[in-house]
Amino acid sequence: MERKEGKRFFTASDEEILSGRTTDIYFVRTMEILKAKGLSEKTALAELTVAKLPREWPWAVLTGVEEALRLMEGKDIDIWGLPEGTIFPSRTQSGVKLPVLNIEGPYEEYCIFETPMLGFLCHSTGVATMAARCRKAAGDHPMIAFGIRRTHPAISPMLDRSSYVGGCDAVSSLIGAETIGKPPEGTMPHALVIMMGDSIAAFKAFAEVIDPSVPRVVLVDTYSDEKTEAIAACKAVKDLAGVRLDTPGSRRGSFTELIREVRWELDLRGYEQVKIFVSGGLDEKTLPSLAQAGADGFGVGTSISNAPTVDFALDIVEIEDAPVAKRGKFGGRKHLFRCPDCFNFEVSARSNEVPCCGLCGELMEPAYTKLMERGHRLAPERSAREIRADVLRQLEKMEMP
Ligand SMILES: [Zn+2]
Repeated sequence: MERKEGKRFFTASDEEILSGRTTDIYFVRTMEILKAKGLSEKTALAELTVAKLPREWPWAVLTGVEEALRLMEGKDIDIWGLPEGTIFPSRTQSGVKLPVLNIEGPYEEYCIFETPMLGFLCHSTGVATMAARCRKAAGDHPMIAFGIRRTHPAISPMLDRSSYVGGCDAVSSLIGAETIGKPPEGTMPHALVIMMGDSIAAFKAFAEVIDPSVPRVVLVDTYSDEKTEAIAACKAVKDLAGVRLDTPGSRRGSFTELIREVRWELDLRGYEQVKIFVSGGLDEKTLPSLAQAGADGFGVGTSISNAPTVDFALDIVEIEDAPVAKRGKFGGRKHLFRCPDCFNFEVSARSNEVPCCGLCGELMEPAYTKLMERGHRLAPERSAREIRADVLRQLEKMEMP
């Protein structure tokens, strides 16, 4: 295959995304036809909904709004909806789909940007939701996002940011860490142990060379038994903060038993302060039992970075203030209300009828924020840290079936 001028990798640049190069051809043809017929400037209201969340998830963490707004900046459109980091179900209790974002303006302003906008939202919402599910499962234990190696490197910043916003405490990539404004975190790879020739030499070299501000956490499963290496590490490294078990599946047997055994043997020798970190194929189903067995912290990779996408759809529901809709969609402008107490949602066709929460009886509140007016952002950008704090606050009320 020919290399494209000025490009090395199979990625789209900011400029290519902003100019519509990553759209589907059928939108380009739609614009061609509407322009030829003098209909492209008609005002259209479109709403973003999801019919069903993947894997029977009861809720998802909305992310990608920030990038969608950056994409739409400068276009003659209004956008209102739920802010980045809102936890939402796909439907209300009575089964009406939640419009999480609304776009209104001349259709030609946003027609071809539907594809990249959906891409931003579908992908990052899936990742943030998996991170949030792992957060719930991990309780208060530290959890680091390790998943960027499983995906295209060009999207590492998005993956790490979504993982962090969803509830990871830190991320492993340099660029992801810069994106969220926190230092990157990690321990040591098997490669270091192998290159050094043996585990103890690697542990000592790490302690000798790496800045003392970096916690000494060593990998204890490269050549011999986890218990043996963990005890040896405690003896070899002063101020050892922890040991990491990344035991391969073929040697795992019972990972929980292994953790219990290592914890027991370390405690027995007076190394109660040495933490046990575990990684390797973890997800929201495995985390609780590992935490219960004595794991103090987790590195979670593939299950978060390769999360299923949330299949949002954008549908036109009003043209020039008249309701329209395709089969299977409810037409007309909608208003969204949220319970301030349990974060339950209700959809109404009328803005002046504020409903009471069907779950707790509390008077609901309007849920939308006006995010953009005629291409100008109204809501200020929030830091990943602020958005994450908001997600964690909502997560307390969410259940994990
Ligand atoms: Zn309620």
